[in-house]
Amino acid sequence: MIDLKDFEFYELEEFILGLGEKKFRTAQIFKWLHLGVTDYDEMTDISKSFRDKLKEISCVSTLEIEQKLVSKLDGTVKYLFRLPDGNCIESVVMRYHHGLTICISSQVGCRMGCRFCASTIGGLYRSLTAGEILNQVIFAQKDLGERISNIVLMGIGEPLDNYDNVIKFLRNVNHEKGINIGLRHITLSTCGVVPGIYKLAEEDMPITLTISLHAPNDKIRDSIMPVNHKYKMDELLKACEHYKNTTGRRLSFEYSLISGVNDSKENAQELAKKIKPLGAHVNLIPVNKVEEREYKKGTKDEINSFLKHLTSYGVNATIRRELGADISASCGQLRKKSANISE
Ligand code: SAH
Repeated sequence: MIDLKDFEFYELEEFILGLGEKKFRTAQIFKWLHLGVTDYDEMTDISKSFRDKLKEISCVSTLEIEQKLVSKLDGTVKYLFRLPDGNCIESVVMRYHHGLTICISSQVGCRMGCRFCASTIGGLYRSLTAGEILNQVIFAQKDLGERISNIVLMGIGEPLDNYDNVIKFLRNVNHEKGINIGLRHITLSTCGVVPGIYKLAEEDMPITLTISLHAPNDKIRDSIMPVNHKYKMDELLKACEHYKNTTGRRLSFEYSLISGVNDSKENAQELAKKIKPLGAHVNLIPVNKVEEREYKKGTKDEINSFLKHLTSYGVNATIRRELGADISASCGQLRKKSANISE
């Protein structure tokens, strides 16, 4: 049965018109879907006969909260959500001065294989539907009873490896009749799927793009990110430049600092030389420990020293503040534990 949340607004409208109903019903139903109503009988402004018709041919997907952890340190909330097919995904809500930001997943597992990442252990199970991506925002907002104002696609999965569903989700979450989060308040993070970056540049969507770079050259990137065997760094940086020029949006880079792998003074210098022309901001993330991996984070001094070198070469950079430290917050960990996933 078709999940009404997998329709874009205009598709829902066509569907409703096709059932012989009036066009204005679309906005009514869309509103209920985005409020997290899953029972047609709670859609009180829809006639009983139309509700019955909808029940026969469609469904409204839901997400069960399998586990919810709240940080005592900073109020960060981590959800382990169970999908209708039994698979689990993670979403994290962070509290900032400017409002609530949710970090959401785009796939169950991931096939990109980054060596330091927990989400990739066990590979890709499947991509999420547009409705399942949206449901993370809907049900977190419903559970918290507070408005979420920002979204980062930085949870489990590679968003550009689930391109069409992610775009559909973006259109729906941004729609004025629904949750209506501004595209400028949405960030998509990619490990560097180059064709996806070119495609995204053509969508006319002013979202922020952030690239998980994590290395200053191909040799190091090849050793920690298999995607780099396919799309080399110069190709990736060219795609970034194209994205920036086409959309007029600023880019940023994620750089996970791994002790002894990518955090030397020379690494900072080489990185600065390559990315300075892009004028992008760099978020430095001390690598989170993943049980199955040998990678370690450096000391505070080593991390600060990398930051100092990078900025001394004229690159804007900051060290990402760690939120939810007491709820073991790096993504992929909860799902891995709950489903007993291993290599
Ligand atoms: N697939 C997308 C989004 C998901 S990962 C991407 O690669 O960008 C979100 C971010 O967390 C990425 O920058 C990723 O490289 C980083 N990350 C993954 N595991 C990490 C770890 N153990 N420590 C620090 N950062 C990590």
